Amino acid sequence: MSCLFCRIIAGEILGSRVYEDEALLAFDDIHPQAPMHVLIVPRLHVPMLNALDSSHDALVGSMIRRAAAIAKGRGFDESGYRTVFNCNAQAGQTVFHIHLHVLGGRPMAWPPG
Ligand code: AMP
Ligand code: ZN
Repeated sequence: MSCLFCRIIAGEILGSRVYEDEALLAFDDIHPQAPMHVLIVPRLHVPMLNALDSSHDALVGSMIRRAAAIAKGRGFDESGYRTVFNCNAQAGQTVFHIHLHVLGGRPMAWPPG
């Protein structure tokens, strides 16, 4: 299995798990860019946003709602937090298994770099 996040999902690489259910896994980013930096990934291997179709709508919706729940659990729902899907090289995607970044705990600049 060559996909890094599939290997984390399979337990071959141990990460710091934050949440899991039958469809999703959330774990701490190994190079955190904020006090909270969680990645939410579907167990299903989907390489990037460009590969999504309508069959994934509920799955992606559950990723976004889980991001909100995790941020609320960390106390960032009122102060604010950021969610990011990077898609392809120029956006900075390095792992080709869709993942939602959830960042919080510091002020975020806009526009992003
Ligand atoms: P992206 O650049 O959007 O593809 O995000 C990939 C993210 O995965 C980066 O923020 C990396 O720091 C993170 N990452 C890479 N390897 C690991 C790992 N073994 N465990 C947790 N996060 C990782
Ligand atoms: Zn994968």
